Amino acid sequence: MDDVDYRIGAVECPMDSPSRGIRMTGHTHIVAGVAAAASVAAITHHPITPALLVWGGLGGLAPDLDHPEALLTRRIPGWRTLARWGQGTGWWRHRGLWHSVLLWAVTLLLIPMAGDLGAHGVWALAVGVGHPAWALALWRWWGSDGLWGWGAGYLSHMLVDTWNTSGVQWFWPIRIWVHSPIPNITVGTWPEDVVRWAILGMMVWWMPQVGLLVAVTSWVVYRGIHWL
Ligand SMILES: [Zn+2]
Repeated sequence: MDDVDYRIGAVECPMDSPSRGIRMTGHTHIVAGVAAAASVAAITHHPITPALLVWGGLGGLAPDLDHPEALLTRRIPGWRTLARWGQGTGWWRHRGLWHSVLLWAVTLLLIPMAGDLGAHGVWALAVGVGHPAWALALWRWWGSDGLWGWGAGYLSHMLVDTWNTSGVQWFWPIRIWVHSPIPNITVGTWPEDVVRWAILGMMVWWMPQVGLLVAVTSWVVYRGIHWL
């Protein structure tokens, strides 16, 4: 079936061309993901934990794992090759499968398993080096609700991408590009900077302390991924 293209003023995918957009996009998606996670927690009266915010930032980046040049792709060994292979096969298009409700739901099933594995690994390491009390304290500080954060962050990415010039295949494998005509933002341009600052500004205006927490966590996640 041919793609149905709802784009207005369609342009080439910005991430396919070398530009500062790649880093800017990652940064914007982290901010949106952390803000979405914090908002969901605030609205549902759940505690705002480091786990929630950090998983929100990672969920905000995850859909772009379908692109060989995306921020997270370049940090996971072997993933770039996988992304290139996926795109080469034709069915793993940028803003296709990975930006769909279907894969969002699949990750919600898989992430708890990854979280459990990670927790067991940290515990084994802590016992191995003789500091289980530290691991327990760290675990209490880290907190719960990481999965909520991930889910909110991942969805925020799909929403943000829907506002740019390329559109998103929300309902993959139904190959319809969903695209909001207004605002029509190209990745890496000044309107994207405005969107990022507007998200942070609204969070600080709405809940000053949480807003500042969102800003700091977004920065830590962004810098942390670069240090990997
Ligand atoms: Zn994306």
